[in-house]
Amino acid sequence: MKALPEHGQQTFTVVRGGRHRASPVLMNLLRDTSTPVIEYLAEKFGLRRLPGLSRSDLTGRLLRQLNEDELKTLENDLIAARFGTRPVEELLEMLLRSDEQRLGRSRPRLDDMPADEATLVRGDTRRWVYTMHGHDVIVDMANRHFACSCPYFRFASHRQALCKHLGRALMLMPEAYARDILIELLVSRRYGGPETRWTYQSVRAA
Ligand SMILES: [Zn+2]
Repeated sequence: MKALPEHGQQTFTVVRGGRHRASPVLMNLLRDTSTPVIEYLAEKFGLRRLPGLSRSDLTGRLLRQLNEDELKTLENDLIAARFGTRPVEELLEMLLRSDEQRLGRSRPRLDDMPADEATLVRGDTRRWVYTMHGHDVIVDMANRHFACSCPYFRFASHRQALCKHLGRALMLMPEAYARDILIELLVSRRYGGPETRWTYQSVRAA
């Protein structure tokens, strides 16, 4: 059996000799997981504890032994462990902070867009639409895209960043929806993976 080499921050997607493909998101999540937690997870999935294995041996073994469904469960467990217990407000704060660092400019101020000045136009399992200070604000869950007619979003959308209206919309939407969306965005930012991608569009296109 071949051990996984340590690659630092480098991204790789396929474990040689593995029976199943691990997603890039799972590989990156595992790289960000401590050795004791990987040992714990291996036991949870029924692998006998083998003392003295290195971190990369442990990871390689886990990836080789788990079937496709178990790999997906492992990925979801790791995501839940990182983000699952955090309130929407904190998840949004994490996202806005990451936008701020990426864009090198200060984040949109949500207090400039008070909740009681927003009007809900449509809200269901597919799409949430608000008007806020004369702007149309759309969170389209069915097609996974954001749109806002404000000038800031025209700039921000090219850089996959949110404006204060979209930030406020995520705070106003039902928590379960907002949480899923924010976790997808954070996982995509930090751990990559095309399956978690949302698009940022003009209101006309949305
Ligand atoms: Zn906006």
